[in-house]
Amino acid sequence: MSADHAQVQRTDFDQVMVPNYAPAGFIPVRGAGSRVWDQAGRELIDFSGGIAVNVLGHAHPALVGALTEQAAKLWHVSNVFTNEPALRLATKLVAATFADRVFFCNSGAEANEACFKLARRVAHDRFGPEKYEIIAAVNSFHGRTLFTVSVGGQPKYSDGFGPKIEGITHVPYNDLEALKAAISDKTCAVVLEPIQGEGGVLPADQAYLEGARALCDQHNALLVFDEVQSGMGRSGKLFAYMQYGVTPDVLSSAKSLGGGFPIGAMLTTHELAKHLSVGVHGTTYGGNPLACAVAEAVVDVINTPQVLEGVQVRHERFATRLRALGEQYGVFSEVRGMGLLIGCVLSEPWKGKAKDFFNAAERQNLMILQAGPDVVRFAPSLVVALEDIDEGLDRFERAVAELCKA
Ligand SMILES: *Cc1c(COP(=O)(O)O)cnc(C)c1O
Repeated sequence: MSADHAQVQRTDFDQVMVPNYAPAGFIPVRGAGSRVWDQAGRELIDFSGGIAVNVLGHAHPALVGALTEQAAKLWHVSNVFTNEPALRLATKLVAATFADRVFFCNSGAEANEACFKLARRVAHDRFGPEKYEIIAAVNSFHGRTLFTVSVGGQPKYSDGFGPKIEGITHVPYNDLEALKAAISDKTCAVVLEPIQGEGGVLPADQAYLEGARALCDQHNALLVFDEVQSGMGRSGKLFAYMQYGVTPDVLSSAKSLGGGFPIGAMLTTHELAKHLSVGVHGTTYGGNPLACAVAEAVVDVINTPQVLEGVQVRHERFATRLRALGEQYGVFSEVRGMGLLIGCVLSEPWKGKAKDFFNAAERQNLMILQAGPDVVRFAPSLVVALEDIDEGLDRFERAVAELCKA
């Protein structure tokens, strides 16, 4: 082993990394499908999917093939030049969605930043400088830049950084009356996650999204859907807006879009896209050939009836077992979500203890997620093998049994 590959350990994290994360005690080194191995060779089942990112599991042959093929061809040219993978990916996204135009970037926060800037720019150009207000939902999450933490209604992420972006109002999610009361002709955009992810895996009500669409139309405001977590097949359709039949004006995608390779995208219509004319917005890496080649392969694999119908089958397998388990052990008050974004809401005696479930699962060689302190979240690969679901849920049941015994 060369010096460059000298053993690093979890304890090194505290010596060399900014302490803004508190990663688990083990270091994953390899993955295949829905299995992951750590430094010690321990095998884990992965139901966390890198926080709803590894949409085709680890080392999927189609993605490895796309990346390595592109890696030998062309890595980066900047947006001074366009490139083939970006054009192919954009063409496929346009063909598959409401959108006519795509802007590529590198993360969910950047995709939302582009959405919010577009909304303000459109309102500014069409109606003047007074129309800049953005309405978002309490407990939403849109990323960690200053604009996106200002729009996401969670003080724990937005407080303590000086003045926030102005003109943002937060209303309770799924409360159409509250939205109606807040919206006005000064509103440039209403921003919603069709399924609140970080906020606790909470799907929107059908009437709420329909009502939001109508209110936006009445007030010349754009409806922006943040589908960074709910998109790319996770709901069982390519995007969750398709489940509702409510079409946004602007949509952000990231996370699963790259299947583990960083990429984000803003999707919109031709009429709105015109407002981001040459030089108005940009990013050096956005539309990078490596990222776009991988994302193109993700779209090719996911946007097929076979995979999307498989998501529903897997949802039932998870939800049925989790509901039974929740009843047997009295740990959940509700199992909710859509497709393979599933949240188990902890019952009263277990409130605030999602981290304990995470830790207990890890002791049983299972990777899961929380969504806040009160919800246990599952966001596995969309093609997770049925046997892996069963074995992973066996492990989860042992974790729950252990917690209940203690
Ligand atoms: C994760 C997430 C983001 C932020 O994405 P990053 O890639 O971490 O910047 C934004 N919106 C939603 C709904 C998310 O789940």
